[in-house]
Amino acid sequence: MFSADFGRLADGARLAERSGADELHLDVMDGHFVPNLSFGPDVVASIRRAVEMPLDVHLMLTHPDRFVKRFVDAGANSISIHIEASCDVNATLTAIRTRGLLAGLVLKPATQANALRPYLGNFDYVLCMTVEPGYGGQTFMADMLPKIRQIRQMSDAAAEPFPIMVDGGIGNETAAQCAAAGATQFVAGSSLYSAPDMAAAITAMRAATEAARTSGIPVQP
Ligand code: ZN
Repeated sequence: MFSADFGRLADGARLAERSGADELHLDVMDGHFVPNLSFGPDVVASIRRAVEMPLDVHLMLTHPDRFVKRFVDAGANSISIHIEASCDVNATLTAIRTRGLLAGLVLKPATQANALRPYLGNFDYVLCMTVEPGYGGQTFMADMLPKIRQIRQMSDAAAEPFPIMVDGGIGNETAAQCAAAGATQFVAGSSLYSAPDMAAAITAMRAATEAARTSGIPVQP
């Protein structure tokens, strides 16, 4: 969603909904946790009025705990926070879940998969960054694939397996690589918003990830 024209966010949201996206992923940046600013709860609320699809809000904030309530009130369906944030991560995950939303835990590229262990059982999905967070249109980091495999092993071993979302530089080819490594959800911005036919692009990405998941094609490390 970061890739949509900011002057026409509602149109961009409706395009994603009309094109068959499962949900809308919204990147919220505070200019501190990441060196960029995006938008806050008021914009999320206006997007909420524009579409009925689930809104997944990715908080790239130093203090996400201070803003959970405002994004819940804005109409988010799921909220993810960074494991590297300056807050009580478990308490913040619990605060999100207590309000009836799905809670996600995000890892920056430099953060190892094992960092998830203290939080197992207290989140609903993992978001694995495949670029440094803060900007759209970056190149996928292929060296994140072994980490995705490790996270998938943790999920398979967990009492309740959790979805693994990848975010950053995702197009058909990189989505397929992530699917083969064990990712289950794919955040795509530039590759979909630059496509001449977003519905066709989403269909093609679904086919690519499904083929990779079932065949387990070899993945470049
Ligand atoms: Zn994101």
